[in-house]
Amino acid sequence: MNLVLFGPPGAGKGTQSKILTEKRGLPQLSTGDMLRAAIEAGTPLGLSVKATMAKGELVSDETVVRIIGERYDQPDCKNGAVFDGFPRTIPQAEALDRMLAERGRKIDLVLELKVDDAVLLSRVEARIKAGGVLRSDDTPETLAHRLGVYYRNTAPLIDFYRGQGKLKTVDGMAPVEAVTGQIAAVLDGIPA
Ligand code: AMP
Repeated sequence: MNLVLFGPPGAGKGTQSKILTEKRGLPQLSTGDMLRAAIEAGTPLGLSVKATMAKGELVSDETVVRIIGERYDQPDCKNGAVFDGFPRTIPQAEALDRMLAERGRKIDLVLELKVDDAVLLSRVEARIKAGGVLRSDDTPETLAHRLGVYYRNTAPLIDFYRGQGKLKTVDGMAPVEAVTGQIAAVLDGIPA
């Protein structure tokens, strides 16, 4: 099964993807994690995306489509994957459909985690208050910018996937376990 977890920054995509990986054995393919790993390792890719990511802007479609394609061809994706933070633009979604079609696969379901902007902001503020290691793009200012990018570039995917009949929306403001439960109910309702 190939799933897309979709929603604004801080909606809980990463958290729910990890739970899906544990419970359903589907690897989490997070372009954000892959890019942060590249920055950490100081690779040419990492160097080329560092400033863009710090500003909360999108890395080029070409770059993320390439890294997701390479990752998807690893053996652990033979039964599918959970796409987390990808696609983020219509061209990325079209490239993903093409990539899967070439491999005789398809996106089975797109799960939208719906969370109000005010809740996203209060989550960032709570993380800051709690201390710990924060991502450089995890600040109220960068969140505001990332939300603008989300509404401009990524939100149009809601209609794209609704048009394909693949979109299901869950309440991302519920407690983590309740969101997990809603996702399980949706997944158990669709054929494997
Ligand atoms: P994330 O961890 O998904 O919130 O992504 C963190 C940052 O990585 C984003 O703000 C972008 O700069 C970059 N990024 C991650 N995924 C994508 C994508 N699919 N397209 C473009 N940029 C991305």
